[in-house]
Amino acid sequence: MLRPLTPTRASGDVRPRGRFAFPGSAAFLAATLAVGTAVGCAVNPVTGQRELALISESQEIQIGRDADQDISRSMGLYEDEALQRYVQDLGARMARDSERPNLPWTFRVIDDPVVNAFALPGGFVYVTRGILAHFSSEAELAGVLGHEIGHVTARHGVQRVSRAQLAQLGLGIGTILAPEMAGVADAAGAGLSLLFLRYGRDAERQADDLGLNYMTSEGYDPREMAATFEMLARASGAQDGERLPGFLSTHPDPLERRDRIIGQIEAGAVAGTRVERESYLNRLAGMPFGENPREGFFRDNRFHHPDLVFRMDFPQGWRTLNQKQGVQAVSAEQDAVLVLTLATESSAAQARDAFSRQQGVTTANARNEPVNGLPAARVDFQAATQDGGTLQGTAAFIEHEGRVYRLLGYATQARWSARGAAVRDAIGSFRRETDSAILAAQPARIQLVRTPEAMTLETFHQRYPSTISMEEVGNINRVRPGQPISQGTLMKRVSGGQRP
Ligand SMILES: [Zn+2]
Repeated sequence: MLRPLTPTRASGDVRPRGRFAFPGSAAFLAATLAVGTAVGCAVNPVTGQRELALISESQEIQIGRDADQDISRSMGLYEDEALQRYVQDLGARMARDSERPNLPWTFRVIDDPVVNAFALPGGFVYVTRGILAHFSSEAELAGVLGHEIGHVTARHGVQRVSRAQLAQLGLGIGTILAPEMAGVADAAGAGLSLLFLRYGRDAERQADDLGLNYMTSEGYDPREMAATFEMLARASGAQDGERLPGFLSTHPDPLERRDRIIGQIEAGAVAGTRVERESYLNRLAGMPFGENPREGFFRDNRFHHPDLVFRMDFPQGWRTLNQKQGVQAVSAEQDAVLVLTLATESSAAQARDAFSRQQGVTTANARNEPVNGLPAARVDFQAATQDGGTLQGTAAFIEHEGRVYRLLGYATQARWSARGAAVRDAIGSFRRETDSAILAAQPARIQLVRTPEAMTLETFHQRYPSTISMEEVGNINRVRPGQPISQGTLMKRVSGGQRP
């Protein structure tokens, strides 16, 4: 989703994201290292029990804040201020009545088509536009926000970070370049790997219970949360496995969780009547559904970016990841990396010189050598890692349409001879995009239709066709095939879009 935004300046360099930033993600690392010294006991806000805590509340908030910056930059926020404010207001209202009302509660919509929701320590909660598109009511959103709030109030994330942080210290990650190499192993992951470790089953049950309480305290119908799990189960079945919804892949069986919630409703433990279906659906009109090709997309290993008018062939067989501030590719053997980002300097030569001046980097063979007619500056480099290793690679800075692109390819010194050629070929493939079909690519979007008369899902799908299957249309509207839809029902369909 590399976007034509002004890159953020940090320490004189672009920080595309913590994991593969060059020269390294100092902030998050500093936070995790600093907390290592504070071991003590704390009272769990939810259970009231004392437990071993490595992290004080102010440290917890700091970790959350730092990681929140990384996530907002790397995954990208969905650009709809009204929707962001709506989710923030709803989440904050629920969190205010929780056991930890004084955290800096922050709720954000991430511009990602994957169905997912997650929380960071300190009160930072995220939902993707993908999961919002799948909800059919505000009560469903409240249920999932409540669940994530529960992870924070019960300090599940803190317990997790404590363990992860210890493991990280043990691995000795703390080098200039190691954070980039650390990202190699899980480049296809959804984000900052440290923050996406799995919670245990007990933690998930506890978060479900807390979420149910939070949503029903606001008057929402708990049956909507049960319905959410059914929707998520069907959504995961409909996807091709490659894009498994993260919210599910890290959670226990959704149908079992649905049944548990239904059990609690039947036992009279929770109740509520508020649903807010139509007011919620109206907020989704026009939202992109699925990937937004304007922000760049892969077709096999060729990357196209309609908005930035370029294309590039990444090495065959490498795993690729398109993120807001960069595209990353990792060799199948996970021993080499190629990263494409925007440079902050105004010319290719300036960008190369700034790169070469970095501490710990030695360069050779600086040259000005156009790439497919585009002005470009290149240099080969070696960089020492703090654990005594050496990385070797090549950097190219290419000017195109008023921007400077930075392409950085490297491997460990021993592996560079085997990988260098593929990296150089990929860099040499960067060129202006001229294919008019690709330049005109558009995302599919959610449209709302009010049924003029009663009809089945089959008839609805025939009359108001979507670019997704009838089963998926049914699932995002919570209607099953054969089930009648009453007259005057507001329904979602997915239409338009011009995938080349
Ligand atoms: Zn969870």
